[in-house]
Amino acid sequence: MKKRTKFYALLFAMVLSLTQIIGVAVPVKAAEKKCSHGYTLSGDFGISRHEIAGGVCIECYHGHSKRVVIPRTFKLNGETLETWQISSNCGFQENGVKEIVLPDNSVYVEEYDKEFDEEFGYVAFKGITFYVHKGTPAEKSIKRAKYPYKYLPETSKPQVKGTTIKRTVRIQNLAKITWKKVKCDKYEIRYSQKKNMKNAKKVNCGKNKTSLVIKKLKKNRKYYVQIRTKSGKKYSAWSKVKVISKR
Ligand SMILES: [Zn+2]
Repeated sequence: MKKRTKFYALLFAMVLSLTQIIGVAVPVKAAEKKCSHGYTLSGDFGISRHEIAGGVCIECYHGHSKRVVIPRTFKLNGETLETWQISSNCGFQENGVKEIVLPDNSVYVEEYDKEFDEEFGYVAFKGITFYVHKGTPAEKSIKRAKYPYKYLPETSKPQVKGTTIKRTVRIQNLAKITWKKVKCDKYEIRYSQKKNMKNAKKVNCGKNKTSLVIKKLKKNRKYYVQIRTKSGKKYSAWSKVKVISKR
């Protein structure tokens, strides 16, 4: 019996280090997609890099939402860059966009005096209302661009920052869960055999812990796990559900 325990402990350690090695050795590089205009496609947006400002220019829109929320940052060639400019109405008006929500940072909205240009298509944002938070650089931007705008409701009280599960490792009836350390008073982990967390068991961990070994899991059963943080009397939202594979 002792030998067996030792064997599983060793196996556990091996799998742990193996997952770490694999995690480091295989970088995932997403292929860069281009839109029909030749710009880098990021979600529904065609983007390019503004060489001087070191930010991102939104060149075109390829989605079909009535209300488009412009992200504050974009990833371009592995770099996270702030949204700097919305270059033209390319794709917005044509695809039925009625509202554009600007991020709070200063976004330069290119201003045109004509609605349609032979070469560039729809340029001025006709029939589109912009949305900004009051008192932000975005408000100044849109006032400068002279397009119609409305205020977004004030954001409610600051939320408690949550965390995410980095890894789950399953050995026999044990599972080790590790998570990202964030500032909080404690962590609450829940796990269940159901993805909707029905009949979940809850475990609390102190603020200095970043891992937990769950014991007595049923053989040949998959489990699901989530984590949230508590600061004062408030909880963060639950993290995304992670799977604990079956054994
Ligand atoms: Zn495009």
